[in-house]
Amino acid sequence: MDRTRELIEKMERYGAGNYKPLPLVIEQAEGVWVEDQNGQRYMDMLSAYSAVSHGHKHPKIIDAVKRQLNKVTLTSRAFHNEELIKFTEKLAQLTGKQKILPMNTGAEAVETAVKAARRWAYDVKRVPDGQAEMIVCQNNFHGRTLTVTSFSTVPEYRRAFGPFTPGFKVIPYGDAEALKQAITPHTAAFLMEPVQGEAGIVVPPAGFLKEAAQICKENQVLLVADEIQTGLGRTGYRFACDAEAVVPDVYIIGKALGGGVLPISAIAADSAIMDVFEPGSHGSTFGGNPLACAVAVASLEVLEEEKLAQRSKELGAYLLEQLSHIRNPHIRDLRGRGLFIGIELDVPARPYCERLMQEGLLCKDTHDVVIRLAPPLVITRNEIDWALAVLTRVLHQE
Ligand code: PLP
Repeated sequence: MDRTRELIEKMERYGAGNYKPLPLVIEQAEGVWVEDQNGQRYMDMLSAYSAVSHGHKHPKIIDAVKRQLNKVTLTSRAFHNEELIKFTEKLAQLTGKQKILPMNTGAEAVETAVKAARRWAYDVKRVPDGQAEMIVCQNNFHGRTLTVTSFSTVPEYRRAFGPFTPGFKVIPYGDAEALKQAITPHTAAFLMEPVQGEAGIVVPPAGFLKEAAQICKENQVLLVADEIQTGLGRTGYRFACDAEAVVPDVYIIGKALGGGVLPISAIAADSAIMDVFEPGSHGSTFGGNPLACAVAVASLEVLEEEKLAQRSKELGAYLLEQLSHIRNPHIRDLRGRGLFIGIELDVPARPYCERLMQEGLLCKDTHDVVIRLAPPLVITRNEIDWALAVLTRVLHQE
């Protein structure tokens, strides 16, 4: 039996079955390329769901890890560490917000935002105790913890996990009128993805973000933007909300913040919101650890130095335009913003992803019928042309 099959069988024997990966075992990676066990090279057009936006093993980020490994890696929040201080200052500058609260994973940061919004509703807006509501969108994806799963609308994410956390109302994505109707005096916040990622790269109708922000403001409702997947350059802007010059009350950031190396996430908000947390009200042993903070500072510097948002905008527009020349009767829609592109089919996307893998291009189906393209933002025009040739070979059918 070849080694790859042997390893995958072992994984199936010992690992929980909560994922169905494509059948390859990655051993090495650099930039936009990864290599499997047999020395076969593939272009990574998934970027670990946008967490590898800087490319694999970005030299500046790897340097930062190595330097920090030799200093201190974990202090807990019982003591201060300088890397966390540098990180909060840097992220506050980038977001324009007064305060930063660091966590580890995306879902944890979403939980943190939900706690912040609820406390703010009780302490500031004076919603009666236990009655705070939040509004979320159909087909949202904000992570996998139980409270976050409580407001998912995808049956397979929820099945047999109840009882769920109450207090969430669902509206159709991109529907400002529905948002208006859903708001009550008890509404704490509207939580949304400025472009829905896991739902299949769904871009809201033009003007929606701006209108939503206005409705929230008029009704004393917090606008909470989950920029975990869309933030830090992915959609061609620093944050996807920038596309309509919208500044949410709370940013939730994760994934690429860790430079493709470590988990680190955060929420950013002004003091009027963040000050609802007093000592003891929230925390995490690893949240704000010096190793992850050193990585995050380097990641944010690379984002600026290499103008990754601008690259994403230009190269994303090019890729989208070129993809529109591919003819295939099964393509129902082609959409995206920056290097965040979905090809929606009327047949399962998985067989296409498997054929693309055989041709040396890695991407992943989402919601069964969408091929998601989200390469590292350091990708070059030549590499995009290489990907286009593969995509055309696999997808084009006259
Ligand atoms: N929010 C959004 C928009 C996401 O896309 C994801 C992950 O895909 C998450 C939250 C959850 O992040 P994590 O997997 O790090 O918990």
